Amino acid sequence: MTCQELDSILYPFLDGEFQPEERLEVEAHLTGCAECAQRVNMELRMQQSLRRAARHAVESTRAPDALRARIQLGIRQEQRRDTQMGWLRASAAAVVVLMAGGAWMALRPEQRQRFVDDAARRHARQLPVEVAGGHEHVEAWFDGKLDHRVSVPRLPNVQLSGARISNVTDRPAAYISYERNADKQGAPARRIGLFVFDDAKREVEAPPLPSVQVGSSHGYNVAVWRDEEIVYELVSDLDESDIRRMVAEQAAAKSRPSRPVSPDVAARPVALQP
Ligand SMILES: [Zn+2]
Repeated sequence: MTCQELDSILYPFLDGEFQPEERLEVEAHLTGCAECAQRVNMELRMQQSLRRAARHAVESTRAPDALRARIQLGIRQEQRRDTQMGWLRASAAAVVVLMAGGAWMALRPEQRQRFVDDAARRHARQLPVEVAGGHEHVEAWFDGKLDHRVSVPRLPNVQLSGARISNVTDRPAAYISYERNADKQGAPARRIGLFVFDDAKREVEAPPLPSVQVGSSHGYNVAVWRDEEIVYELVSDLDESDIRRMVAEQAAAKSRPSRPVSPDVAARPVALQP
């Protein structure tokens, strides 16, 4: 069962309209998917408080006897359904307890792999860019299109070829496309895709710069890192060492003071500077 499938049956499921074997499927998904477990938990809590509020309203209102009897019958049915749903509440609670214990750490890499796979798949599709131009132009184009600000990293030795709006799993993301030209030593031109998305809740395990986690999927290397609440995923067929060097150089350039440095000093190796 996928997250989308669970999403489409969530409400009938919460209403207890499922057979035991269907429930098992849902339960299996909830054990492996922190996002959905959290969501189910939230829905359950919301339903409970709605019910409490309804009960309270009925108890505190003087309704005609016949109407009151009908409403109370409804509440009794609700209570029966409550018991049916006990198993779900228990299993959702178990998932939460698991997460509070060590299993949460085990779930997060799985979660990250989901994002790695999805980014690689989308990069492979080679979708056309929606905007081209310089870094500032592309950054300005993203303004207002996503909930988070997009800064376009200046990766060393590559050209910015453009950008588009995309997704990584269900997160709206900026997709920034770079190209490295073929060089004189015969290395072919390479395409580099960078996904940028908001992860304020820190659900994706991504190390803060200058650290970077490199995984692989669909024949691509995928580097993942975080800058506060923003997660970056760089997808490319470059070697892992090339990617690490590229990200490290970009991080170093970013943390350097933006005050312009005279070119002859900047070009000299650090050890030779007076
Ligand atoms: Zn899910």
